[in-house]
Amino acid sequence: MKKISLLGATGSIGTQTLEVIASHPDKFSLEAISIGKNIELGLKQINEYNPKLVSVQFKEDYDKLLNEIPNTVKLVYGQEGLEEVASNNDADILVNAVLGSVGLAPTLSAIKAGKTIAIANKETLVTAGHIVTEEAKKHKVDLLPVDSEHSAIYQCLQGERLQEVEKLILTASGGSFRHLDRTELKDVTVADALNHPNWSMGAKITIDSATMMNKGLEVIEAHWLFNMPYEKIAVLLHQESIIHSMVEFIDGSVIAQLGTPDMKVPIQYALTYPNRLQLHGKKHLNLWEVGKLHFAKPSLERYRCLYFAFEAGSAGGILPTVLNAANEEAVSLFLNGKISFLEIEEAIERALNEYENIALPSLEVIQHIDKETRDFVRNVMASK
Ligand code: NDP
Ligand code: MG
Repeated sequence: MKKISLLGATGSIGTQTLEVIASHPDKFSLEAISIGKNIELGLKQINEYNPKLVSVQFKEDYDKLLNEIPNTVKLVYGQEGLEEVASNNDADILVNAVLGSVGLAPTLSAIKAGKTIAIANKETLVTAGHIVTEEAKKHKVDLLPVDSEHSAIYQCLQGERLQEVEKLILTASGGSFRHLDRTELKDVTVADALNHPNWSMGAKITIDSATMMNKGLEVIEAHWLFNMPYEKIAVLLHQESIIHSMVEFIDGSVIAQLGTPDMKVPIQYALTYPNRLQLHGKKHLNLWEVGKLHFAKPSLERYRCLYFAFEAGSAGGILPTVLNAANEEAVSLFLNGKISFLEIEEAIERALNEYENIALPSLEVIQHIDKETRDFVRNVMASK
């Protein structure tokens, strides 16, 4: 029986993780969850899944919920609450499915507490990859990828040696605007951007897919998870999202992982690794129904965010933190109708140009620059 803590239970990955847990009651038990603002769904989850420890984002919700939940449930809140759920003594594994760099501190708490981490929260690896991977090594903690591309690569690498890898090939659907050129991107709306062709995901990552920043963040995530130099990481447009990623080896052999697009596959694989379990309700892949698979090379002029991510990732230091924080803030401004789609790129470029790089930043420096970059983006875009 694996005991699980879950950060971001009310989100897209969070709710799918709960379904995976519930579908194998003899294999998994849920110990603790964190909820953000969605208290209504959170309350339902508490009643349905019965976790022993629950964290909410805000004190007001903590006060409200105290009278509504069974007194067998311990309730906590805020940043400390996230860290308590993450390092919760009873759990074996933490699924980190919270959104954004707010996931960094709890990830570090879980590592220090010796928990295996199933990591969906890519912003944490982007903003502080050197610290997270170093700490994981020091505490002998496994970081198991949940992101479908990284889970695919992880599966392709089983029994292989990293030094025999020629290239990691991350596939990308191209997002909601893959058929549009740059001039056609000028007037696209939030609703258009949220309409992803292949995957149903949270709002922020759906926008990241449309700008291709999602793939950019994933390139940096792959760099840290697989200790791979950026020259050995490539991106391939593949509109069907059937091949989830591939590994090319030095002898020219390429191994790919395929399946119908369904995040429950990588979520469950991270929970059962190194074993597999039946996935209830899974639509299996029939390639004759798919018929054709398409591939193309992405243009870094068309997808500016992918270019920024390769540049910031390769430069290292504080630039990945700036890239991530500027993107989080700009996407939030776009989702709130404050800036246009193309201004997301503009905000990120301005922020990246604003900073002198700092090598090997400490956690404190990262947290400071993260905040400063968000303020910069808000101010510079408001004063346009
Ligand atoms: P969602 O927006 O659907 O969910 C985010 C979760 O985090 C919710 O539970 C939300 O709470 C909570 N949350 C957000 N901000 C805070 C905060 N400041 N404090 C505490 N809790 C917070 O996101 P997704 O599930 O789509 O994505 C989660 C992570 O997984 C991201 O890093 C994303 O890049 C990654 N990922 C997602 C995939 C997907 O298919 N969705 C695929 C691969 C990776 P609430 O809703 O209650 O406010
Ligand atoms: Mg992905």
